[in-house]
Amino acid sequence: MAKQYETVIGLEVHVELATKTKIFCGCSTAFGGAPNTHTCPVCTGMPGTLPVLNKKVLEYAVAVGLATNCTVTRYGKFDRKNYFYPDNPQNYQISQLYLPICRDGSVEIETEAGKKQVGIHEIHMEEDAGKLIHDEWEDCSLVDYNRSGVPLIEIVSEPDMRNAEEVIAYLEKLRMLIQYLGASDCKLQEGSMRADVNLSVREAGAAEFGTRTEMKNLNSFRAIARAIEGERERQIELIESGQKVVQETRRWDDGKGESYAMRSKEDAQDYRYFPDPDLAPIVISDEWLAEIKAAQPEFRTEKMARYKKEYGIPDYDIEIITGSKHMADLFEETVRLCGEPKKVSNWLMVETLRLLKERGMDPEDICFSPENLAKLIRLVDGKSINGTVAKEVFEIMFEKDIDPEKYVEEKGLETVSDEGALRRAVEEVIAANPKSVEDYRNGKGKAIGFLVGQTMKAMKGKADPGMVNRLLKEML
Ligand SMILES: [Zn+2]
Repeated sequence: MAKQYETVIGLEVHVELATKTKIFCGCSTAFGGAPNTHTCPVCTGMPGTLPVLNKKVLEYAVAVGLATNCTVTRYGKFDRKNYFYPDNPQNYQISQLYLPICRDGSVEIETEAGKKQVGIHEIHMEEDAGKLIHDEWEDCSLVDYNRSGVPLIEIVSEPDMRNAEEVIAYLEKLRMLIQYLGASDCKLQEGSMRADVNLSVREAGAAEFGTRTEMKNLNSFRAIARAIEGERERQIELIESGQKVVQETRRWDDGKGESYAMRSKEDAQDYRYFPDPDLAPIVISDEWLAEIKAAQPEFRTEKMARYKKEYGIPDYDIEIITGSKHMADLFEETVRLCGEPKKVSNWLMVETLRLLKERGMDPEDICFSPENLAKLIRLVDGKSINGTVAKEVFEIMFEKDIDPEKYVEEKGLETVSDEGALRRAVEEVIAANPKSVEDYRNGKGKAIGFLVGQTMKAMKGKADPGMVNRLLKEML
C-alpha cells in the first residue's frame, strides 16, 4: 500500500504598514514615484545618520498583535540583521530577533472541514529593502531606494496548516483583520502583503517534522495554492526515491508551474544579529496600550451582528459586504445618505460583484463614492431614469466615479414622462407591427412584450416600461 503523507505548512507574512512616512526617517512611503526620489541620508544608509522610530509603526504593530490575540512585549528592542546585498545600503536590516513586539497569538480560520486555530509564533517590526531592477539596462542592474525603510511587520505563524485551503483561509483572515484596522491595504499584487511558505512533508502519524523548504515570490492566492501542491509533490518524490529534501529557499515560477532553488536556507546565526545601538529600547506604557485597545475597530463578527439588527438585509449579503472593510464602509455611508439598505445592498451584490468578477478586481479596488451611489438610487426611486439606464450609468460610475445626476443630464438620459410623446411612439409601433397587434388581439398575451420592446427602442431606452405597457394595452 502506498504511504500516506502529511503536509506541514507555516507562513511568514510580510505586511507593509500604511504609514505616510518611513519607519526611521521622514521620507514618503507612497507607492511608485520616480526612482530614488523618496530618499534621504537615513534610508540610503549614509554613515553618521541616526534612525528615529516612527511611533505610528509601533502603534500599528501593537494593534495587529491585539487583533490576533498576541501578548504584547512591553519592553522591546531592535536588532541588526547583517547581510550584504545592493538593495540594502546599510549592509544590515533593522529588524527584531530577541524581543519581537508580539508573541503567542492565534487566529481562527474556517474551511470546509470546520473551524481551526492557527497559532502565531510572533510578529516583529522591520524595514523593507530597496528594489533592484535587472531588465532595463543590458550590462548592469539599477537600484531604487524608494522602498528602502518602508515599515513592515512580519507575522510568523506556527506550522499549524496542512493544506492550501487552510493557508488561503489564514491569509484571508489576516488580510481582513489588518484591513479592518487600516494598518495596511494588503495588496498581494503590489507587494504590500507578501507570503513566504515553509513546507515539509512527513509520513502520516510521524511525530518529527520533515526537512522544510521556503518558497518565495508568491504574489497571488492562486500562485500560493499551486506552489504548495507542486512543492508537496516534489518532496514526496524525493523521499520515495530514497533522496533527501534539502533545507533551502526556492523561487516559485508561476508561469512554468515549478520552483527552483535560490539559496540554501539560512538560520538566524548566519546573520550575526546584535542589538541595534542606535535605537533606544521600546517601552509600552499601560496607558498607551489601553488607548490602542480602546481604538480597535468593530471587527467583522460584531459588524455582522449589528447589520442583522439594523439593516434587515439577507445573511448572505451581510457576509459578502462585511468580508471587505472597504465595501462595508461604502455600504454604511451610502445607507446613511439615502436610507435604503436593501437597495444599496442590491447594487453591491448584483452589479458591483458582477463587474469585480468580470475585471478580476478586489472589493478594495471599488472606486465609486457613497455620495454617487446614493444619487443613482435616488434617480431610480424618483423615476428619473429606468432600471436599464441606471445599469448603464452604474457601469460608468464603477469605472470613473462620475456624478450620475450630471451624467444623466449631460447625456439626456432622463426618462421621457411626456405622455403625448409616448403615445405617438406607441401609435407608430402599432402601425408598423400589424402581425403582433393581430396576435395580441387573438389572445396571444405574450405579443405585447415584443411591442413594449419596440417602443422602448423607439424611445432610445428612455421610457418607463410600466407606462409603455399601460399605454399599449389602452390603445390596442
Ligand atoms: Zn529617508
